Amino acid sequence: MTRPSAAPDGGCDALFGLESLGAPGTPSATRPAGDAFRTGDIARRLLPVRQIYAEPAAAASPRGRQVLDRFPHARVIEVASHWGIPGLHGNEGNVERWVRVKGETLVLGVKKNLVTRPNGRSADWIAPGPSNGCALACSYCYVPRRKGYANPITVFTNIDRIIAHLGRHIARQGGKPEPNQCDDTAWVYDIGENGDCAVDALICDNTADLVHAFRHWPTAKASFATKFVNPDLLGYDPRGRTRIRFSLMPADDSRLLDLRTSPVEERIAAAGDFLDAGYEVHFNLSPVVLRPGWRAAWADLLRHLDDVVPQRVKRQAAAEVIMLTHNQGLHEVNLGWHPKGEDLLWQPRLQQAKRSENGALNVRYRNHVKAQALNDLRELIDAHAPWLRIRYAF
Ligand code: SF4
Repeated sequence: MTRPSAAPDGGCDALFGLESLGAPGTPSATRPAGDAFRTGDIARRLLPVRQIYAEPAAAASPRGRQVLDRFPHARVIEVASHWGIPGLHGNEGNVERWVRVKGETLVLGVKKNLVTRPNGRSADWIAPGPSNGCALACSYCYVPRRKGYANPITVFTNIDRIIAHLGRHIARQGGKPEPNQCDDTAWVYDIGENGDCAVDALICDNTADLVHAFRHWPTAKASFATKFVNPDLLGYDPRGRTRIRFSLMPADDSRLLDLRTSPVEERIAAAGDFLDAGYEVHFNLSPVVLRPGWRAAWADLLRHLDDVVPQRVKRQAAAEVIMLTHNQGLHEVNLGWHPKGEDLLWQPRLQQAKRSENGALNVRYRNHVKAQALNDLRELIDAHAPWLRIRYAF
């Protein structure tokens, strides 16, 4: 595929141009904090992109051109659809190079189905995300369950249409009538269900554009979970309209299961900076993985959190607690590249099966095991981090 020219995209059917997304605030192209991190060594090591599969319309769009310019040496391979790319998705042969694929490959696509789904647990709504897939490699990640074995980032280039869709959806809701577990006053939209927005921000301005859009919607708030500390996000000026949720688990578990992520201590240490930069900062205690000694490990983590998190973060913090779920297909894939992690994740003695709507065999902790563990964890939080309000636990 020939790289498209950088000329303006006259055929774009966007409802408004990318340049207007930041108005009347600071457009992403002139953000004061610069993008030093995404062009630095850590970003280069995480994303040594060598090939980009691209739908032609995605490659020709302004956002697609931004991504292609960002990785000028990558080979561009034209594909008819960002789904089911032969040799990439659903290919068990990729297991041996699972992690390499995540860093060396990107996909550019146009998101066709713009649907906002009700949620009611972590967020009121699940927004159509700006990406699908992730360059990090958490071995319990549920995203590949639906996508196939290899799971590199697909960047959706029609971010303008995603934002226009969200604007209409938010306008239709009106004000939030009463507080709920998601938020007291704002409709919360999860913008990162199928990826990590902080990692996406290493590639292009999709995350910045969403953060900028939400600061103009007083009845709504964006929310995303992350395991990656990307200092470039500190320059986005979210003005309190984006909630970042740093995912935490005991460091020993994280080193084994959260591959390619920022160390847990780094995520905790970043909380004050992100609050000061205008984010609401919450924590995801997830996934909670049961193994011998898990209570002591979580107690250590909560004590550390209590020791280092500044008071100003504590005053506004809340947490989600999510017990591990797993999947038979993913378990078998993981045995091919990271069997040590499966000793923790796959524990039939403690788990029960649940057939999902798409026929996949998922497992979760047995009801009584889960109830006891959640109770134990609540007690640990009460004892070691009593300021940490639990928004929900399941
Ligand atoms: S950070 Fe999230 S999306 Fe990325 S691999 Fe981990 S669990 Fe999956």
